[in-house]
Amino acid sequence: MTLSNGRPYLAIPGPSVMPERVLQEMHRAAPNIYEGALVEMVAGIVPDLRYVARTEGHVAMYICNGHGAWEAALANTVAPGETVLVPACGRFGFGWADMAAGMGIETQVIDHGRRTPIDPERVRAALLADSGQKIKAILAVHVDTSSSVRSDVAALRAVLDETGHPALLMADCIASLGCDRFEMDAWGVDVIITGSQKGLMVPPGMGFVFFNDRADAARQRLPLVSRYWDWSPRAHPEMFYQYFGGTAPTHHLFGLRAALDMIRAEGIEAVWARHAALARTVWAAVEHWGQDGPLRLNIEDPAHRSHAVSTLRVGAPLGARLREWTDRKAGVTLGIGLGMSEPEDPKGEGYFRFGHMGHVNGHMILGLLGVVEAGLCALEIPHRAGGASAAAARLAELA
Ligand SMILES: *Cc1c(COP(=O)(O)O)cnc(C)c1O
Repeated sequence: MTLSNGRPYLAIPGPSVMPERVLQEMHRAAPNIYEGALVEMVAGIVPDLRYVARTEGHVAMYICNGHGAWEAALANTVAPGETVLVPACGRFGFGWADMAAGMGIETQVIDHGRRTPIDPERVRAALLADSGQKIKAILAVHVDTSSSVRSDVAALRAVLDETGHPALLMADCIASLGCDRFEMDAWGVDVIITGSQKGLMVPPGMGFVFFNDRADAARQRLPLVSRYWDWSPRAHPEMFYQYFGGTAPTHHLFGLRAALDMIRAEGIEAVWARHAALARTVWAAVEHWGQDGPLRLNIEDPAHRSHAVSTLRVGAPLGARLREWTDRKAGVTLGIGLGMSEPEDPKGEGYFRFGHMGHVNGHMILGLLGVVEAGLCALEIPHRAGGASAAAARLAELA
């Protein structure tokens, strides 16, 4: 029998759950792109995006996914033949480095494995070794969505300042913006990127690049910036079409307007606090289950765990079997073990992930954890019974 009929829950780390309000705003006839509601609305989106990123800087919007935002950030700051430093911890740092390599940029990657955050001391050593100041930018992923590790981006600014190295500090906040605390200006970050489909609760299809004047100065010295990715007309449009280098992503914009209204109404500090409490609820369950049996959070130190995504280890093939069970039997879709392949587990089936980013609340998380506990029982995966009640008790403390 299956108990999956009813409202499904896509608990993967992006695309995230879309609020009804976002969906309702998108459900409308095609709007005029030359005047009227859409045109009047877009200028107001920019300050609200700045509010979410805690910056007074510039914002360029693109019709693209996160990979496009990776390319956009690089196209405006680094020329082919120049070098970027990529301290990678999980899958996504390598992805950004690969994007750079495809643009003819030299990449210096520091591999941190899949269990630990960026080590500022290793970055310091690389900067000190760069006596010719060849490195033009550090590409740091704030939350790596595969390992669920969160790195300290402000610590990288401190290292840059202490070494006097002029490289730009660029952060991938695709998984973290609107979930984990991020303060672009206070932390001295020059460029950040994000996408629409995670903390911003809108379908995939829009990418955002935030940049400060230092980064814009780097843009000015480039011999060439490809026209579509050029952030200048997008951030400072003289005509409406320049926001998007062509037709605006009409329905995404109506959805985004609703999502930003929701974030504004809750308040960004409260949004961060909600994600922190729900993440702690998840950890309470997993730590309880793990007292007997193989289940573990991938990131040991709570200070380095994301509040938006949790990666769990259980041993192959149990991760894949559990995902299949929760999906087929109870309507909860868990995330795959992305980028976690090992020689003895080529498909990464010993891992799975919970997405808890964006439009999620207490009942969704407790439902998710209850279903996972049911799956552990059904599949006879050894665990200490009662993780779901441990989570409920934690939620009660934190609420
Ligand atoms: C999701 C994600 C990406 C990739 O975004 P796409 O929209 O799939 O291109 C990149 N970096 C991080 C940290 C992500 O979470």
